[in-house]
Amino acid sequence: MSRHVIITGASRGIGSDIATAFVAAGDTVTALSRSGTAPTGVARSIAVDLADREATDAALSDAIDQSGPPAVLVANAGITRDNLALRMSDDDWDDVIETNLTSVFRATRRVLKPMIRERSGRIIFISSVSPFMGIPGQANYAASKAGLVGLARSLAREVASRNITVNVVAPGLISTDMTQDLSAELAAQIPLGRPGRGADVAAAVTFLASDSASYITGAVIPVDGGLAMGW
Ligand code: NAP
Repeated sequence: MSRHVIITGASRGIGSDIATAFVAAGDTVTALSRSGTAPTGVARSIAVDLADREATDAALSDAIDQSGPPAVLVANAGITRDNLALRMSDDDWDDVIETNLTSVFRATRRVLKPMIRERSGRIIFISSVSPFMGIPGQANYAASKAGLVGLARSLAREVASRNITVNVVAPGLISTDMTQDLSAELAAQIPLGRPGRGADVAAAVTFLASDSASYITGAVIPVDGGLAMGW
């Protein structure tokens, strides 16, 4: 049965691969991004800046009106503004927290009502190994991604009785636009000996959204080639 799946940041990188995986499974995918581009097969692509509260709410309402109550939300959109904390501007802190954490809270709150009405839902946040490893220059990013874990676990307890699961996927180094400038030093620390692919992350996300994962909630699933194991 085709489910309505909403994915943020689906225009490129990991989000695009996640969207492609859900499309291949026959789901009806709504893709949100700033540019509004999306991979082939996506039912609806909406251009929206998730840092804009009203525009995000309108985009999600539009998606729900058009394609029905969402069965799955994948909050994937994210940005980096790396700098050492001493040199980090307020804007760089605020932009990252707003896009990576606050917008996820708002999108989740918007989809929860219809999910609760349906007594069914899967919410998946894309975090990172960064808060577990402590990567210099990523104080804002690591704080935002650690925040997603706390958000997911509070929510998981709040909505478990409604048959809604909330989980986190924590990718390591995945080859996308975001990681073009990352040092080879980090790649050299990956036990499996290679950076990941968007499809590796998509496989974990589609699993968490599947019937097979119905007893998993509040979990953090690493997809990192072993990079952050033990943290
Ligand atoms: P990416 O290639 O830079 O793509 C980012 C996506 O997010 C794009 O679709 C972009 O849309 C969208 N986006 C960013 N800011 C937005 C905003 N304000 N409003 C709407 N859409 C916005 O990033 P990626 O590497 O695929 O990363 C995807 C997620 O995985 C992020 O949350 C990232 O933190 C996380 N992650 C990535 C890695 C990695 O190694 N790549 C590792 C750990 C975690 P536009 O195309 O329209 O700009």
